[in-house]
Amino acid sequence: MQRAPNLGWSDLRPAELLDDSVLAGLPLAVGNEANLAAQQAAQSAPGRPSALSDFLYLSGEIGIGGAAVRAGQVMMGRHGWAGEIGHVCVDPAGPICRCGSTGCLEQYAGRHALTAAAGLETTAPPEQLLGLVTAGDPTARRAVTAAAQALSVALAGIINVLDIPTVVLGGYLGQIAPLLRPDLEDLLQARVISARWSTPTVQAATYSPAPGATGAAFRELTAVIEHPARWFHPTAAAGNADVSTGVSITRS
Ligand SMILES: [Zn+2]
Repeated sequence: MQRAPNLGWSDLRPAELLDDSVLAGLPLAVGNEANLAAQQAAQSAPGRPSALSDFLYLSGEIGIGGAAVRAGQVMMGRHGWAGEIGHVCVDPAGPICRCGSTGCLEQYAGRHALTAAAGLETTAPPEQLLGLVTAGDPTARRAVTAAAQALSVALAGIINVLDIPTVVLGGYLGQIAPLLRPDLEDLLQARVISARWSTPTVQAATYSPAPGATGAAFRELTAVIEHPARWFHPTAAAGNADVSTGVSITRS
């Protein structure tokens, strides 16, 4: 891991901090929460694609993580660092971000920034923001409008570059999607150059209490489904396996 600004982490390897006894000799893979949550949205079950194959996924919690998914596969980038949409600058004159830049998206649409701007505790559940806006509270309404504006700037830039006009909102952003969607879709329609022929759409992710953990389970179980024989005998990994029966064959 190079950096996790909202956790205050940098230059550490999480896997090395885990107790070996927890792993019980099992191999360990570490993944980014937003990438794994996007993987969960791309599959209805391990190894089975969902109705979504090409989409931008936003994971809204304290900050905002993200992932671009193409043909069901999360785009990792050259070093595995792709998808940091929360730190796309939407206003160079905006507030300082913990990443060191200014005016990052999550300074407007991250959970902490949005709830604070709406006059709520940063731990306030989404129902409180929904209630305030529905009741016509002007401060809460302005905060949601600013968040939708910032999201539209960042997302329109990505859609114009990648031609992936489907946006899936996860986490806190998914829970307040009814507030964001109308303004956000209108703004994307205006900002995305191909919108006339392919209308950008915004939808909430199917609710999951821990989409990153589910995505991690999907990733590992998909590997089992794709190569089940490997889990019966180590030699299967070398190609000496009858995959149709799951029985490994050892050459003498
Ligand atoms: Zn930032």
